[in-house]
Amino acid sequence: MTKRPANRLRQAGTGRQPGVKRFRISLAAVPAFKAVTSFPALAALSAFFIGCAHGPSTARLGAPKGNFTTVLIDPGHGDKDSGGTSGRLTPFQKEKDLTLDTAKRVRDELKRAGLRTLMTREDDRFIELDDRVAMGNQLGTGAILVSIHYNATGSSRPNGVQTFFWHANSHGLATRIQQGVVSSTGETNNGVTRRRLRLTRNPEIPCVLCECAYLTNPTENAKVAQNNYRQLIANGIANGILQQYRLGDEGIPPVPEIWAPLSKASDKYVPTKKRRKRVRSADEDGRG
Ligand SMILES: [Zn+2]
Repeated sequence: MTKRPANRLRQAGTGRQPGVKRFRISLAAVPAFKAVTSFPALAALSAFFIGCAHGPSTARLGAPKGNFTTVLIDPGHGDKDSGGTSGRLTPFQKEKDLTLDTAKRVRDELKRAGLRTLMTREDDRFIELDDRVAMGNQLGTGAILVSIHYNATGSSRPNGVQTFFWHANSHGLATRIQQGVVSSTGETNNGVTRRRLRLTRNPEIPCVLCECAYLTNPTENAKVAQNNYRQLIANGIANGILQQYRLGDEGIPPVPEIWAPLSKASDKYVPTKKRRKRVRSADEDGRG
């Protein structure tokens, strides 16, 4: 735990934020989980296929301090929502494909280490942001949510790794994942940013969103096209999660003050017609 006064921790967002809608929808409303509840006799089997819920025992990981045993991995975007793209750069890549590939690699690493894993999607399908949040909230205590994204912007210059969080209980996780990816890939460290994105403010479990690289940067676009490089990213994310599992918030600096304005509907970035065809801004990255 970070050493902060209790009242400040509350202000910093350890609890649910006032006005934040509590998602009461059942997992039955979520496509990825529908099969489980529609066919009770297959529930156990489906749970295995959907979420690898019967992963290896975590016993060999030692006494954990992270207060979680399950990781919900969220590959950003899907189907009609491609996310960002590399625009005119070659190879042409869509964020939704890279996030899914990276998420599967993270899942495999975590399973190998003995953690229990679930995924919000395992194929090219569209899932509403609120349904992704609902999956996390349904899992409840003992789970964390890690959302994987790739960045895109109108300029070819920006590059590097950035991890977002909102609730104070997610700062340690964000910090370790950020450090994990930066040290694994050697990429520019854009740091950990505290921001109220829909996927960082609404889950009631620790949750972070990692922007692994810029598809609009020629160098990074070429790198993430390589399996080996995406594996390095996945290793970094998995290492960060495993470190948080072992150590909890031990050694994590205090939660930073908010430097970015709060997100709200009126802040939504409206892209130009031309840009809409080629790229998506990080701030309109389906993160509301
Ligand atoms: Zn995205």
